[in-house]
Amino acid sequence: MPQWEASRSFAVGHFALGYILGKASSKLVRTEIDLPLILMLSVIPDIDILIPFLQHRGPTHSILSSIMLFLPAFVIWRRKALPYFFALLQHSLVGDYLGGGGLQLLWPLTKATYGLRIDIKGATNVVIELIAFLVAMLIMLRTRDMSKLFEAHASNLILAISVVTVVLPTLLAYPFYVPLVLMIPHVTYLAIFLISILAYVRRSKPTRGSSEKRPLPDAHLNKPKHAKPQILPSRNSLPALSYLTLLIQKLPGPSHLLFLLYERKAFSNLSGFFKCM
Ligand SMILES: [Zn+2]
Repeated sequence: MPQWEASRSFAVGHFALGYILGKASSKLVRTEIDLPLILMLSVIPDIDILIPFLQHRGPTHSILSSIMLFLPAFVIWRRKALPYFFALLQHSLVGDYLGGGGLQLLWPLTKATYGLRIDIKGATNVVIELIAFLVAMLIMLRTRDMSKLFEAHASNLILAISVVTVVLPTLLAYPFYVPLVLMIPHVTYLAIFLISILAYVRRSKPTRGSSEKRPLPDAHLNKPKHAKPQILPSRNSLPALSYLTLLIQKLPGPSHLLFLLYERKAFSNLSGFFKCM
């Protein structure tokens, strides 16, 4: 078995812990979170699996890399960037630290590796991931975050990165390296993400006989009546943050295409953000 596969983690726990920590910290700093962005950040360090010249659990899993990446976000959004930072940080410091270890947490200062080497296929890890998944699903349903994911927002497209980076490679790998009991949460996440993406794509399709696009729900956010038309970002969507994340963490081919789709929206939102300041 290749080294990277031996220390590969399951996306289930990362999605769940990223969401739970992001949601809990959003309550503390009194802000609403962009769910697709939180879910994407919780697994994005594993993009190194798809990049041949990057060592798995190396630079993209470093705490120092995460801090450097988030410095501009903390300068701009201050404490409102915390839920996103925690969602990213838990990937290395909780999920991967427990499951498999071998993390270059202090790269580039040292390439020394850290973490406990609990077998990620063992019963302990599987139970932890299943419990985290169930708790996250329960919170999503009770707080109505699940239905928010199915509303048509442009940020839903960010979920395509999670699908390409970890969910599909896990489900399409043969032979399966994920225990069968964890395939159910994987398929559940895949279904949720695809419905969310399709909800936006379907809504943004032009209506027959009209050259204009149907209005999107988020197109009306923060738009006062009789105001001069301009693009205003949702204060909670952090479009620039998602842009920086994608840019710095070096996109592979398929994700790059998805990024290009999202790029125009990110830039227009970003320019709108600075116009408002
Ligand atoms: Zn990882």
